Amino acid sequence: MSGDIPDLYIAGEWVHSSDGGTRKLINPADGSVVAVVDEATPDDAARAVAAARATFDEGSWPATPVADRAAILDRIADLLERDKEALARIETEDTGKTLVESRIDIDDVTSVFRYYARLVAVESDRLVDVGDPTVISRVVREPIGVCVLIAPWNYPLLQISWKIAPALAAGCTMVAKPSEVTPLSTIAFVRLAEEAGVPPGVLNLVQGSGAVLGDALTDTPDVDLISFTGGLATGRRIASVAAQHVTKCAVELGGKNPHIVFADAEWESSVDQVVTGVFLHSGQVCSSGTRLIVEESIADDFVAELAKRAAKIKFGNGLDPASETGPLVSEQHREKVEAYVALGISEGAKLIVGGERPTDPAFANGSYFPPTIFDRCDRTMRIVREETFGPILTVERFSTEAEAITLGNDTEYGLAAGVRTSDAARGERVVRALRHGTVWLNDFGYYTAAAEWGGFKKSGNGRELGPTGLAEYQEMKHIWHNTSPKPAGWFKGD
Ligand code: NDP
Repeated sequence: MSGDIPDLYIAGEWVHSSDGGTRKLINPADGSVVAVVDEATPDDAARAVAAARATFDEGSWPATPVADRAAILDRIADLLERDKEALARIETEDTGKTLVESRIDIDDVTSVFRYYARLVAVESDRLVDVGDPTVISRVVREPIGVCVLIAPWNYPLLQISWKIAPALAAGCTMVAKPSEVTPLSTIAFVRLAEEAGVPPGVLNLVQGSGAVLGDALTDTPDVDLISFTGGLATGRRIASVAAQHVTKCAVELGGKNPHIVFADAEWESSVDQVVTGVFLHSGQVCSSGTRLIVEESIADDFVAELAKRAAKIKFGNGLDPASETGPLVSEQHREKVEAYVALGISEGAKLIVGGERPTDPAFANGSYFPPTIFDRCDRTMRIVREETFGPILTVERFSTEAEAITLGNDTEYGLAAGVRTSDAARGERVVRALRHGTVWLNDFGYYTAAAEWGGFKKSGNGRELGPTGLAEYQEMKHIWHNTSPKPAGWFKGD
């Protein structure tokens, strides 16, 4: 990762970009250069796909006993534990998130490898009774084949591990493409996977601009599954390219996630979790609770308390233990967030805290942006409808349960939602009425490797994690075995 050590991994070899291209990676906390990495060309990407194809078709990896594949996943988890601190530091320097968050990410990544090591080892074929004792009918799971795994910059290693772990467990081969902005933890991870014994050609790695590499990775009949996490516009494009080849395509896209607070909700945990749910990682979270939908009778007091707490959040360099949240991922992204703030003001939303980049010279070289709250918002506003992917909370108010549900569902997305009430029956009614892939009742933001993650509506069409997250990488094959063959007797021949 210095420009001397190659960081593309193709067919089991670490190689430089074929045209010598490199990219400087910038630490968003202070503008320093963290590393210089190889920037793949479309030819490099095509070679990575060809390597994955050849390795899959050669057949040893898909035929590797499940117990051996599971052991490799467990070894990867062991190595992640061994290198946790180094990986967390890389993630912080590349993304800007705090070291505490990065450590949690690495723990979560480890848990995903452990989970799929266990799950794949206990999966069994399904026997189907066809009513004929001479016929053995069974449904077996086989690896889907060559997978292209494309991840975003906000949770670089976490998002790609949700793909790599089940793909390896299933016996697939793959090409991983992290975001060009934050590839460092994925490069380090692939070195661990090699050390853990993942055979050459099974896991290939290219990093570089998605716009440049995209077609080589997706517009090809050699790929059996594209698993993409990122924005709606890119997801749409990839899905339409995949459709030309009838390639299975799982897209995990954005969210505009409501956090609904009823007047009877427990106060302290509600205030705390609304703040955490939107300002963690400076709002650069797909499931961030960016839309507060609060009952009118408590709204003024509730919002005043939020504003007080938001103003006190300590942002700073993620390596500084005093920082509670870090900078935005890049200068370019900060400009996008600022444009949304200007839009909110022009749309008539009431800015009550934040909204301007810090003037303190200590933050001069980083891409910092403070927690920002807009009150008096409504659903006609773009700031309420579009994913800002920054530390921006919008506030809408409601008077009835039905209205809260209508507001909560009034988004083209459907990734995640929160509901807070001390009335358990109402809570259950509302969580069932919300059209979102994950709904937290009196909590926000938690997930586990064992439960499915994914979106309704334009938040995507696949599921990661849980048993379904493994099934995405498997084909179901029905085998009908007649142990006592006899003529069908349909055509009589006379
Ligand atoms: P993008 O859609 O811009 O990029 C995602 C990935 O796609 C990157 O690796 C990017 O590469 C790559 N890419 C870009 N263009 C193409 C193309 N034509 N063909 C193939 N790959 C391409 O998203 P961001 O990185 O900006 O991530 C933020 C988005 O991700 C948000 O919308 C967020 O909600 C969503 N997200 C969703 C999650 C979920 O679980 N549903 C989880 C996390 C994030 P490069 O960066 O190199 O250009």
